[in-house]
Amino acid sequence: MVIVLKNNYDQVQLDKLTAWIREMKIEPHFTHGESQTIMGLVGDTSKIDIDMLGALDIVESIKRVSEPYKQANRKFHPEDTIITLENGAKIGGGNLMVMAGPCSIESEEQLTEIAMAVKKSGANVLRGGAFKPRTSPYAFQGMREDGLALLIKVKEKTGLPVVTEIMDYEHLPYFKDVDIIQVGARNMQNFELLKHLGRCDKPILLKRGLSNTLEELLMSAEYIMSEGNEKVILCERGIRTFETATRNTLDISAVPLLHQMTHLPVVVDPSHATGKAALVPSMALAGIVAGTDGLIIEVHNNPQKALCDGAQSLTPAQFDELAGKIAGVKAVAYR
Ligand code: PEP
Ligand code: MN
Repeated sequence: MVIVLKNNYDQVQLDKLTAWIREMKIEPHFTHGESQTIMGLVGDTSKIDIDMLGALDIVESIKRVSEPYKQANRKFHPEDTIITLENGAKIGGGNLMVMAGPCSIESEEQLTEIAMAVKKSGANVLRGGAFKPRTSPYAFQGMREDGLALLIKVKEKTGLPVVTEIMDYEHLPYFKDVDIIQVGARNMQNFELLKHLGRCDKPILLKRGLSNTLEELLMSAEYIMSEGNEKVILCERGIRTFETATRNTLDISAVPLLHQMTHLPVVVDPSHATGKAALVPSMALAGIVAGTDGLIIEVHNNPQKALCDGAQSLTPAQFDELAGKIAGVKAVAYR
C-alpha cells in the first residue's frame, strides 16, 4: 500500500499515524521527494481500512500495490534511484556508468593493460571476475582471492572503481575493497546469498537469471532490499530462448519495462547476451537507445588467448571505437 501525503502535512499527525501502523506490525518506508512525501507500507495491509485512512487530513491519496515486490516498486518510490560510488561516479537518474574489463582476471599485466586502455576510452568502472561460475568443473575457475587482490591493486594504480562477482557469502571478507559486488545470472535466486548481501552496504549488481522473468528479478532485488541494502543495480544479460545463433537472446524491452516497474538503475550486458564480439557494439548502443543506465562490456587485450569468454570480448581498440559512439547515441536515447 502506498500513501501519498499532503504537501504541508502536520508532523504530529504523521507520528500518530506511523505509530498506529507499526502497532499492526506493518513497517512504513518513507520516500521524501522534491515535491511529495510517500509512505510505503510493507506487511499484511489487508486489514487496513483504506477509506478511513483516506479521510485523514494529512493524506492526499492511497493506492493498494498488488505487485509482490514493494521496496523495488516504482509506485513506492517514483523518482529514479541514483547510486554513487566512493569516488563519486554515479549510476541512475540520467547518469550513465560504463563498466568494462576482462571476463576473468588472468595476471597483473593483463588486467593492468586492459584497465589503462578502457579508462582512456572513458570507462568509469573496471570489471574482472575472480570467482568464476563455469558450466564445467574442469574449466578455469578464476584466480579466486589472488585475483581479487590483483583487482584491488589495479584499482589503486588506475583509480578505477571495480565490480566483481561473488559466489558464496563466506567470501564476503575478500570483497571489502570492491566497489560493486556482482551476483551472476546463475545465483540470481540464491536467496541466502542475497540476504547476506542485503546486510552489507555496498552496491549490488544483480544479473537476471538465465530463464527468469522480470518479476522474479525484482523479487530477488527485494530480498536484498528487505534486509536494508537499497543499492541494487539490475542487469539484463540475455535470456534462454529457442534461438541458438546467439549465446542468449538480449531482451531489450526489459530495459523500458523495468524502468516502468522499478526505480532501480538498469544495466545492459551485451557481451553475455550475444556471445559474439561482432554483435556487442550494436547491442550496446541499442541498450543506450532503450534507456539503459549503464553497460557492462567484456574487453580483452588478446581475445584469442583469453581463459574465459574470448569470443565475446572486444579488443581495447574495438571498445574505444564503441565508447566514441556512446555519447552521441545517448543524446537521442529514449530516457
Ligand atoms: C560474467 O559477468 O562474467 C558472468 C559470468 O555473467 P553471467 O552471470 O551474466 O553469465
Ligand atoms: Mn564472462
